[in-house]
Amino acid sequence: MQNPENTDLFDRLANPWIAGLGTYEPGRPIEEVARDLGFNDASDILKLASNENLLGPSPLAMEAIREHVSSQHVYPDGGAFYLRRALAKRHDLEMEKVLPCNGSNEAIELLAHVFLGPHKSMVMGSHAFVVYRLVAALAQAETIAVPMPDFVHDLDQMLEAIQLDTRLLFIANPNNPTGTVVTQDALDRFMDQVPDHVAVVLDEAYIDLLTPEQQPDTLRYVRENRRVFLLRTFSKTYGLAGLRVGYVMGPESGIQLLNKVRQPFHVNALAQVAAMAALRDEDFVNCTRRMVQDGLSQLGAACDQLGLDYVPSVTNFLLVKTGRGREICQALQQKRVIVRPMDGYGLPEYIRVTLGTQEQNDNFVAALTDVLNANVITP
Ligand SMILES: *Cc1c(COP(=O)(O)O)cnc(C)c1O
Repeated sequence: MQNPENTDLFDRLANPWIAGLGTYEPGRPIEEVARDLGFNDASDILKLASNENLLGPSPLAMEAIREHVSSQHVYPDGGAFYLRRALAKRHDLEMEKVLPCNGSNEAIELLAHVFLGPHKSMVMGSHAFVVYRLVAALAQAETIAVPMPDFVHDLDQMLEAIQLDTRLLFIANPNNPTGTVVTQDALDRFMDQVPDHVAVVLDEAYIDLLTPEQQPDTLRYVRENRRVFLLRTFSKTYGLAGLRVGYVMGPESGIQLLNKVRQPFHVNALAQVAAMAALRDEDFVNCTRRMVQDGLSQLGAACDQLGLDYVPSVTNFLLVKTGRGREICQALQQKRVIVRPMDGYGLPEYIRVTLGTQEQNDNFVAALTDVLNANVITP
């Protein structure tokens, strides 16, 4: 006999801490949004909501993908040997200190599997990447969120927040959604004081967008065998978000632990070859960095002109105080521009916009200007 489907069909069977979790709401496909708004074509829509690379994928990566489509009946290399070797060489580390993964989001989850659980806690910034909280909840661990004055991680307060049961501490550097960085000095002082029972995770998803002089030297912590993990990704700078590939660097014993909890074929074959090619694509990285630097000046000036506050950013997005963030995002969508509301980060007055080419930025500014004028919203 067939039961009528009801929402609690499995709830009593499920682990109670899972049944109680919220669900991550995926954005709707851009084609669906376009159709709802009465536009013919998704290409009419400017998506500035996920900090993707608006230049598209690295051309060398695309070429590598085309070359390898015909061998997709074979499982990928479960050890990602060549990618690991290329990354180790790039960062001057032993291969054993590098683990490619299915986007750096997978690494965040693996870290939670290894280090978090009931009666454990995780420390993070109050306006830092939400995925840290989600994986802590999955592991039944407590999240300790530390205030971020001026939207910057306050490392002294984070040190003070550490409890005896704390096992992970996340610093997104630069941070999403604030676009701020902590300095080398502050990091060095922090690393010297952090207690032995805590592993520090430096999420450096946006670090490659900075010029080499701007980038803090965190690889030295790995070489010194500190209790640290560095997370990096091909999703942003290299334009490969759709392929899901990132990597972790850390002391060998830490990488070995992560290897125990991962799936055997977690990084797909096209991702491996594309990532290796992208690593060689210096021209593309330089163009991307230039686009970001130009975009920061352009959007900063536009916000000044509109009288809008924003958080000074070093990376490819800007947190702008428009007031009534969610309404502004909806109004912008009517004008074919998608940006991200920030109420989920406790910042309902803000929107986060990804920087693109000069023309894309101009289109965003024009749409925002229209929306602000039409709504007579005072920021
Ligand atoms: C975008 C982003 C990532 C990257 O996630 P992937 O899974 O590699 O695509 C990681 N951390 C932060 C803070 C990000 O903003």
